[in-house]
Amino acid sequence: MSAHRAVIVGGGFAGLSAAYTLMKRGITPLLLESSDRAGGRGKGEQIDGFSVDMGAFVFTATYDTAFRICEELGLPLVSSQMKFGHLRGGRWVTTSPEGSLGSFVRQLPAAVALGFLSPSGFRSGTKVMRQIRRQAEYMSFAGDSPLAEIDDDESFGDYLRRLGVPRKLQVTLTGPLKMILGDPMPAGQALMRAYIGETMLSGGAVSMPERGIGSLSAALAAECADVIRVSTPVSRIVVDGGKATGVIAGGETIDADAVICAVPGTKVADLVPELPAPVRRALGTVSYSTGCRVVIGVEGSPLPEGWHGALYPEDDDAPLLMDRSKFLPACAPPGKSILDLLIGRDRAKELIPLDDESIKRELLAAARRNAPPGSKLPGDDEGHFFGVHRWEEALCMGQPGMLAALAEVPGQLAGSIDNLFLAGDYMGIPSVNGALSTGESAAVRVAELLAARPR
Ligand SMILES: Cc1cc2nc3c(=O)[nH]c(=O)nc-3n(C[C@H](O)[C@H](O)[C@H](O)COP(=O)(O)OP(=O)(O)OC[C@H]3O[C@@H](n4cnc5c(N)ncnc54)[C@H](O)[C@@H]3O)c2cc1C
Repeated sequence: MSAHRAVIVGGGFAGLSAAYTLMKRGITPLLLESSDRAGGRGKGEQIDGFSVDMGAFVFTATYDTAFRICEELGLPLVSSQMKFGHLRGGRWVTTSPEGSLGSFVRQLPAAVALGFLSPSGFRSGTKVMRQIRRQAEYMSFAGDSPLAEIDDDESFGDYLRRLGVPRKLQVTLTGPLKMILGDPMPAGQALMRAYIGETMLSGGAVSMPERGIGSLSAALAAECADVIRVSTPVSRIVVDGGKATGVIAGGETIDADAVICAVPGTKVADLVPELPAPVRRALGTVSYSTGCRVVIGVEGSPLPEGWHGALYPEDDDAPLLMDRSKFLPACAPPGKSILDLLIGRDRAKELIPLDDESIKRELLAAARRNAPPGSKLPGDDEGHFFGVHRWEEALCMGQPGMLAALAEVPGQLAGSIDNLFLAGDYMGIPSVNGALSTGESAAVRVAELLAARPR
């Protein structure tokens, strides 16, 4: 048996940022991670001069905690504006985020293809835009985003129907969400609106560490290396007399004055059977999409000049394509690129059980059926390397009312299970930034608690 002032369960971005924050405040925690490496869904890897992200890959404009931690750790950020091709009615169109009159005229054919210019599309599109602008302060992934305040039981599908958004424009508004998250229609309207609203308000601006998101999880893990114990799954958080008093890992009981539980929301109830009923109910609203991702190192540029990615929202089998070296040139050796193929929804569930080679062939074949004009997608056996990453639980979907229900959880835990703090993407605005900021705020509360009760 050993004892620590603070134990953190889970070494994804939430757990790592909790450990990092405690260490900055002079507290040495113990972080227990079940897998053989910290990083969770934000892991990356280095392959022959390529920097690959296995899970998360994009920070949008409001990732305040992520940007600050990158700065503190000396990771330069690279900014760009996303330019994607969209397949509509068998034709590829692109939009550019720049707001000039010339750009407006150039984009008219794209606006027609995307469904903005029919009378009902124009009417409802204007309503969506007006609402996004009016509620701009809510459309944010920042650590202090008030998004939960406008969350209710309405699903995103019902929201679009309420505003009279026609089918063609629904495809445009939900295209990227559908491809990455799975079907966004049953999810809560607040989170889905934030995904769209935040992108529109910032003109598609993204900012990332120059070697990808995996370089941030690696830098955090290196900073906290002395306090991380890997390959150590926690089987139970011990609650005694209304307080978290430690954890059980591999048959060992580790005592603690405070425990931060930073595992995905679906795993919390099993670790803490004593959770009060309202917390259990709130956690019951958490669900994750399934995702599958193929990464291929290729010679030259696989996508048309200037494109960051290509979206096939009308084709259920085709993945989202991305050339990460367009955002982040330092991620690939000169003259080479990283092509990402990402799929969510039921198709990801069908593919996940297959072997790596079959998944790569299936996704490449689907992408090639309607290849963007001028693209150079690799053949089945081409490429410097390829990797397949399967995620049974990828992005937190946000069921209707989830954000509002989870905002109540810290208050429901206090006085019922003291000294236990929950952190993770599901406790904030689901994203890397949500995970980082909830880890940080849990650590701040733990530091205050420990300061009030010196040993
Ligand atoms: C393919 C993909 C693409 C994504 N794209 C983006 C994106 O572009 N932008 C974005 O913001 N977000 C993206 N996300 C989501 C983002 O990765 C997550 O929101 C974030 O990384 C979650 O961090 P977390 O710490 O809350 O959870 P996790 O990363 O899941 O960390 C939880 C950790 O707990 C460990 N663990 C679980 N059970 C135990 C136990 N019993 N004992 C000890 N350890 C345990 C796990 O091994 C894991 O390391 C993406 C995710 C995926 C999978």
